[in-house]
Amino acid sequence: MSERLIDASGLSKVYGAGAQRVDALRSTDFQVDRGEFVMVAGPSGSGKSTLLALISGLLTPSEGVVRVLGRDIKSLSRDAFDRLRLEHFGFVFQGFHLLPALSALEQVSIVLERQGLRREAARRRATATLTRVGLASRLDNRPSELSGGEKQRVVVARALAKQPQIIFADEPTSALDSVNGREITRLLRAAALEEGAAVVCVTHDPRLIEHATRLVRMEDGAVLAD
Ligand code: ADP
Repeated sequence: MSERLIDASGLSKVYGAGAQRVDALRSTDFQVDRGEFVMVAGPSGSGKSTLLALISGLLTPSEGVVRVLGRDIKSLSRDAFDRLRLEHFGFVFQGFHLLPALSALEQVSIVLERQGLRREAARRRATATLTRVGLASRLDNRPSELSGGEKQRVVVARALAKQPQIIFADEPTSALDSVNGREITRLLRAAALEEGAAVVCVTHDPRLIEHATRLVRMEDGAVLAD
């Protein structure tokens, strides 16, 4: 039986007011089960990033309910939500906050330490994950010493290392060449199919779309096809 990890219903998001009002998302339902690799595609401005921000709790909906791992996000205190996010969410965004002073190994291991792993265990797991994404020889390099593709792999390793239940990705391959793009896609797909995470990925990259287990098409702030 499938297990529902994200269950959003009646989601709307309005930015601005009056003449500036933008209805970025209109009463949208969206569910994701464990093991799914869901691609959200659609033209620029169709509401993809807004949907992702709402279901990952980065933004609050104007209307509607977001249940994640069985819990209504709105009912959680700030601390409880931060804890949920630290424990169970992985984020893969374009150039997502790599810290300039830290090596690849440290970028990944500090997250694990924050989760409560002891230093040595965190470093062991970080090393294993970075090796899995092809960066075994780059552990001690800082972001300024890594290529764009390598940096994006560090971001992916940081998300995967905590073995999250849900991975949110926004255009994870848009700045990458086809070899790196395919590799990132393979890693995200494996997280869903082999490790049972739910992966929700916003993209317009056709190379990604063909690897999805499900494709959601958006237009004008609504889901057009699923
Ligand atoms: P997509 O990810 O599909 O490109 P977005 O979710 O980013 O779409 O945007 C949906 C609509 O909401 C667009 O019309 C966009 O201009 C608008 N929008 C997004 N963020 C904001 C914001 N912070 N303030 C005002 N309008 C916004």
